[in-house]
Amino acid sequence: MTVPRPLLLATALLVAATGAHAATVIRGARVIDGTGAPAKEDVTLVVDGDHFSMVGPGLRVKMPDGTKVVDYTGKTIIPGLISDHSHIGLVDGTKAGQPALYSRENALRQLRQWRAYGVTTVTTLGINNPEVFYPLRADLHAGKADGADLFGADHGIGVPNGAPPAKMMQAGSSQLDRPATPDEARAAVDAAAARGTDLVKIWVDDFNGTLPVKMTPEIWRAVIAEAHAKHLRVAAHVYYLDDARKLVDDGVDILAHGVRDKPVDQGFIDAMKQHGTWYIATLDLNEAAYIYARHPAWMDQPFFSHAVQPALATQFADSAWRDKVRDDRATPVNEAALKTNEQNFKRIYDAGGKVGFGTDSGATPLRIPGFAEHRELALMVDAGLSPLQALNVATERAASLLGLDDRGVIANGKRADFVVLGSDPTNDIEASTHIEAVWQRGVQVSGKVTDFTP
Ligand SMILES: [Zn+2]
Repeated sequence: MTVPRPLLLATALLVAATGAHAATVIRGARVIDGTGAPAKEDVTLVVDGDHFSMVGPGLRVKMPDGTKVVDYTGKTIIPGLISDHSHIGLVDGTKAGQPALYSRENALRQLRQWRAYGVTTVTTLGINNPEVFYPLRADLHAGKADGADLFGADHGIGVPNGAPPAKMMQAGSSQLDRPATPDEARAAVDAAAARGTDLVKIWVDDFNGTLPVKMTPEIWRAVIAEAHAKHLRVAAHVYYLDDARKLVDDGVDILAHGVRDKPVDQGFIDAMKQHGTWYIATLDLNEAAYIYARHPAWMDQPFFSHAVQPALATQFADSAWRDKVRDDRATPVNEAALKTNEQNFKRIYDAGGKVGFGTDSGATPLRIPGFAEHRELALMVDAGLSPLQALNVATERAASLLGLDDRGVIANGKRADFVVLGSDPTNDIEASTHIEAVWQRGVQVSGKVTDFTP
């Protein structure tokens, strides 16, 4: 027997209203649920505590007394965005890489910015100080701290005299391991596992030939084997196709950047699919290295300026800085890397590869928390995805990469983490920037970004 829908919703409302938590009914909105499905008009959402207890077509039912009703007629709701690759506590203004920046206060400043920009879950992929990171993660998971929810990869495993570059990341042994032998690498994994890390991070790159050494296969194989023995997955910083191919064949779980030196081939894509390897393109990363020196029109919009701390805004306005970036030999390399990254991402996406969402925001001052994620959406569309596909990558698929089934879509039983937009991004992804409100765990936590001070 099929129960008519109006009765189901009315029952859910009564249960919600008489349960332990006060219910909130959100009605009138267009909903993009994160699965890639088309938007649905006039959806009613019942929020019970921190999750959705009912999601269905709009209905005119009598609300039980005490039910809070929010009318979002004309607005579009999307799930909160999820970053699979960011960093906390590495930058503040134009300062970067100093261990003192890894404070709870500075990390929370950034996590509030991500959240105000609609990114409700953030993964800090290495270079974390465990004394700050673990208590902060626990408090954010429990709703006892104010900012995006947090996951992370403990210290991360770099290379002596290699990646990540010491001049970029001055972090010492309190934030980073640089094992010289497989035994030391296994010990680093064991220590991170004992502290409760979510993932293990490795760096396999020479940063455009600027570093004398790269991580050797014997080190990464030791890391992957030890991590898997501890039921942990390994995410690798990569740049070159040859390294990515070897890592996939050796069982790495996540490529934390796109391949940017050459086009990916079918053999590589087949290997990724056979091993179930995840791929995070980080398209915005290379663009961020040069784009601000060109002052595109969007830099004059409040959506951008409210994400930029004063010291960084001063840098962007400095013509000497802009000339330096424009004349930098790295600029054409970064432009080409973006183009190759977009083409590779589209090819892997079309082939049915497992793609996550991330920008490496927070790794340097130019990778601006929250703003970077919206550029990434725009660049995914530039690469050939539809806006609904790009949003699916940034929500449902990003949650899936993290192994989280409690978020990433708008559906019964999922966390009520969502973003209210003033216009519909279905045909123009730019609408993702028209944020009117952000809700986290069933509560509105912010309004327009113009109310946010970076
Ligand atoms: Zn990173």
